[in-house]
Amino acid sequence: MTAPRLPALVAFLVLGAALVALLALTTPWHPLGANAPRVAADVHRDFTPAEIARENAFHRQTRPPGYAAVVLGLVAAAVLGLTPLGAKVVERLGRGPWPVRAAIGGLALALFPRLLTVPLDARTEVVLRRYGLSTQTWAGWAVDQAKGALVGSVLVVVATVGLVGIARVAPRTWWAWGALAAAALVCVVSYAYPVVVEPLFNHFTPLPAGPLRTELLGLADRAGVPVKEVLVADASRRTTALNAYVSGYGSTRRIVLYDTLLNDASPKEVELVVAHELGHVKHHDVRNGTVAGALGAAAAVAGLYLLLTSPALLRRAGADGPSDPRVLGLVLFAIAAATLLTSPAQCLVSRRIEARADVHSLDLTGDVDTFVASEKRLAVTNLSDLDPDPVTYAFFFTHPTSPERIALARAWGEQHAG
Ligand SMILES: [Zn+2]
Repeated sequence: MTAPRLPALVAFLVLGAALVALLALTTPWHPLGANAPRVAADVHRDFTPAEIARENAFHRQTRPPGYAAVVLGLVAAAVLGLTPLGAKVVERLGRGPWPVRAAIGGLALALFPRLLTVPLDARTEVVLRRYGLSTQTWAGWAVDQAKGALVGSVLVVVATVGLVGIARVAPRTWWAWGALAAAALVCVVSYAYPVVVEPLFNHFTPLPAGPLRTELLGLADRAGVPVKEVLVADASRRTTALNAYVSGYGSTRRIVLYDTLLNDASPKEVELVVAHELGHVKHHDVRNGTVAGALGAAAAVAGLYLLLTSPALLRRAGADGPSDPRVLGLVLFAIAAATLLTSPAQCLVSRRIEARADVHSLDLTGDVDTFVASEKRLAVTNLSDLDPDPVTYAFFFTHPTSPERIALARAWGEQHAG
């Protein structure tokens, strides 16, 4: 009996079209308006040759291990997914009932590529320390790696046991239930992440009452967005980088400031950073991102069904079908490949959303000079890549470069002059 493919194909196309339409309609392609003044990004205008040389030297050392880790992880996943090797691993490890085989097999197949890249990640950590960006001990670093692997493992077990289980119960329609479950999982993770996962890595304390807290809450009021909490994360235990973010929605929404930012930046700079984060809240970026993620996850499950009903691919992977835990190598490879292939689109959308948050911070503070000064400082302190090569920019830049952000602020200034 061959499973029908047409309904899943239609669902894949419809969900994909809905996702593209959502992104096309909600992405701020022109954050300043289509007819705004244009200011070209110019790295040499704001950064000294020494600053540029330092970040270039830094990235010449971090890019190779970073790229090697991406390629090695993908190649390992491909070998496990597109040859019978992954199926053999699952067979060797697993005796017993299918949930155990799916959980242990899935974990082994997901962790193996990750273990391979640990030396490369360690190499990156060495460079971060050399440049004073990491303040971690190796023990602290290892604990962080283990926690990251643990969080990933929980998701892998939920996904692999869930997939094999649903495929066993509903061999012909599992893609529909799986798509619903995946969309729900994205929503749950998005909601639970700040309350469950973030505290694993950082300790949060409320920003004590004082002029800064009053100023920040006043800023949130002026922005017209409800914020319950301003928290400080003890990020200085691992990094010297300056950062802040907003996470969660509804009752879990909070603004989080790195303690490094509080210690090193002036109150005006902190306000600007927070005004940027409030822009994300105002424009519902987390909610929109979650909806897009849910649509993407549902489309991915329908796409996975199409792959897993291909006899040629199953033969390659040495598995009988999606109800057979030996299929998990192929599944994990498909997820890894799809994630990498879609990252330029994700980054493109993210960069426009970040630019809109920058515009919001300028609208709220009206302070181009502080924006430019603080952008420079953040870039120099964080050793940001000021002039990335096009591939790096396309695949990994979720934010515009600092020269681009400064140029946007100057364009905003021209737009609002007089
Ligand atoms: Zn942002």
